[in-house]
Amino acid sequence: MANQDDQFKKVVSHAKEYGYVFQSSEIYDGLSAVYDYAQNGVELKKNIRDYWWKAMVQMHENIVGLDAAIFMHPTTWKASGHVDAFNDPLIDNKDSKKRYRADVLIEDYVGKLDAKIEKEVAKAAKRFGESFDKEQFLATNPRVVGYKEKGDAILQRMGKSLENEDLADVKLLIEELEIGCPLSGSKNWTDVKQFNLMFGTKLGASADTAMDLYLRPETAQGIFVNFLNVQKTGRMKIPFGIAQTGKAFRNEIVARQFIFRMREFEQMEMQFFVRPGTQKEWYEQWKETRLKWHLSLGMGADNYRFHDHEKLAHYADAAADIEFRFPFGFKELEGIHSRTDFDLSSHEKFSGKKLQYFDPELNERYVPYVVETSIGLDRMFLAVFSHSLQEEELENGTTRTVLKLPSVLAPTKAAILPLVKKDGLPEVARKIVEDLKWDFSVTYDEKDAVGRRYRRQDAAGTPFCITVDHETLNDDTVTIRHRDSMEQQRVKISELKEIIKEEVDVKNWLMKM
Ligand code: ATP
Repeated sequence: MANQDDQFKKVVSHAKEYGYVFQSSEIYDGLSAVYDYAQNGVELKKNIRDYWWKAMVQMHENIVGLDAAIFMHPTTWKASGHVDAFNDPLIDNKDSKKRYRADVLIEDYVGKLDAKIEKEVAKAAKRFGESFDKEQFLATNPRVVGYKEKGDAILQRMGKSLENEDLADVKLLIEELEIGCPLSGSKNWTDVKQFNLMFGTKLGASADTAMDLYLRPETAQGIFVNFLNVQKTGRMKIPFGIAQTGKAFRNEIVARQFIFRMREFEQMEMQFFVRPGTQKEWYEQWKETRLKWHLSLGMGADNYRFHDHEKLAHYADAAADIEFRFPFGFKELEGIHSRTDFDLSSHEKFSGKKLQYFDPELNERYVPYVVETSIGLDRMFLAVFSHSLQEEELENGTTRTVLKLPSVLAPTKAAILPLVKKDGLPEVARKIVEDLKWDFSVTYDEKDAVGRRYRRQDAAGTPFCITVDHETLNDDTVTIRHRDSMEQQRVKISELKEIIKEEVDVKNWLMKM
């Protein structure tokens, strides 16, 4: 646990030191769970957004984009169920005065059981060596089976109690499991209460005519209310999808995990409209497609897993999370939800307008079913950033800090470095920058010894360093150094563009899907 905490602290401080993420309004001591993206962070975030957009919109003939406003008519949130049901169960510790999400306290308890299972697996893998069969071990080892059964039973009971609004049982469960306040250990809890997560605001100048509004808690509803506009003007045929990225706001009860859980965050969502009855197939297909997108970034299949929901949201008939191994354990990164016709039907009811599709093949009119993929951009940022940050022991006994970002996402693709600040080397390096910057984001750096500059670029996540030296003046060659392998090659200046392109081109990465 201490190790995990240390690793996470390193992630947070590295993000600040290298211009990725700052606390919002830091000079006023910050604002809780609100963050700003700095010069490198904004590029990484944009690259992740583009990588998603290209995979979802550009590569799918039947998916189009949308950018709906954050403000929406307040009835939207009545219809969507958010006014009545977008609640989290909160619980306070009477001694430490700290507030928690009751479901998260319980899930963390189960997370500890999962960690015990992983430990047993690691121990056994060591003991049995080559002949170790993980599946069989998970299915038969009595201790592991016991942890798994206990965890499943706890989650099932919690799911049922939350579904039945039986908050007293949720508290009872916390007491029975003897869960203490994570900070103080105290088990002196209040009752569990529901808390609505939407932020309210007002539209209009005068007090009596002002209209109560909400800041959208998800981008999806902007897609639903525009469903027919897009379908008609784009002459879309079912099945088709509408994709959108944008800010969402939630007044989260507990938000102490850096950009994992923020009060203002960005979502990348796609709603896929299908024929009623086919939603199950599409749900399975999108689960698979989305996992492949993650795997294309090469961050290790072992670091992802599906978690099927026991407790379904009011709109869903099936739901799963893609979880990622964050520094604090496996947690939700993306949700795939089969939302039925709940949203469109409900908007029909509340607006009095038909939101139906005429299916020319069936010669029939119906309200489409929806399968949604919904990923938090900030969470994806944290997944990529935390996974990439590594300390490496080098052969000469020193260590280096390197941010091994998938190069397609790296903020800066190459740093151009004159070996020394004289003899015309800076001029040549500048010329290379001028040439490459039309195709890639590149940077020029001449300060400090070249070894220090390499380290600086390693820590910032730059995949290539290109060094101009005296030989360059004679034969137009430079040294190109690869961040991950630290290998250096001598190449012609005229070859640089191709070498970098081969490595960072979105196509080469997405083709791995
Ligand atoms: P959680 O259970 O972690 O609160 P959720 O199930 O409420 O998440 P969804 O409503 O399914 O999340 O939202 C889709 C995605 O949006 C999530 O998978 C996550 O990546 C992201 N997300 C949700 N809430 C936040 C938040 N407060 N900060 C950052 N990202 C978030």
